Amino acid sequence: MIRENVRKILEELPEGVQLVGAAKTRTPEEIMEALDGGLEIVGENYVQEAERAFQEIGHRAKWHMIGHLQRNKAKKAVGIFDMIETVDSVRLAKEIDKWCQRIGKVMPVLIEINSGEEAQKSGVMPGQAMALVNEITPLENVRVMGLMTMGPFAGDPEEARPYFIKTREIYEELKAQHIPNVEMRYLSMGMSNSYKVALEEGANMVRIGTKIFGERE
Ligand SMILES: *Cc1c(COP(=O)(O)O)cnc(C)c1O
Repeated sequence: MIRENVRKILEELPEGVQLVGAAKTRTPEEIMEALDGGLEIVGENYVQEAERAFQEIGHRAKWHMIGHLQRNKAKKAVGIFDMIETVDSVRLAKEIDKWCQRIGKVMPVLIEINSGEEAQKSGVMPGQAMALVNEITPLENVRVMGLMTMGPFAGDPEEARPYFIKTREIYEELKAQHIPNVEMRYLSMGMSNSYKVALEEGANMVRIGTKIFGERE
């Protein structure tokens, strides 16, 4: 079933849109089934879970960190992930930079936007995104390649639309600045229930869990 789900989603996605399979709580076997169906990028929320899956699957997949990354996990994370989608502070970016420098890697990162401006949520506030990007650009082993957002949880995907629009506006604004060492290429927005709306609003990377793997227990 997982295999077929991936095939179907890939068939439907417009050209140039990347699918990230959001794999939290899924076993390496389930992830491998998704890879069989054509999935190329696995999104993980926790470093420890990613490590377990990475040990079994390795470089047959690309690995994206899509959960909040704690600074004390940065060292381990840089050894596993091909992209960190959730950078929201200069302190975290510096930690990633430090460990990447040691292993001679340049980490592509997305800036996570707290598009709902919710106090308890991770992500940088929309008004602070530009300043954060400017603080990160001098870091040689981190490369800003776009933005990611979750948006407030909503049952109705239409309710997510304004937050996707807001994030896309920041993306366009940053792109127009032509900041050195910044390449605005990826806009990661939308999950199982909202990715169609996200695509309409310019997402070119969608993170889908339930629609690939089924309901989480
Ligand atoms: C779980 C998760 C998703 C996917 O959610 P589904 O509703 O299962 O598709 C996307 N992004 C992040 C950051 C997640 O944690």
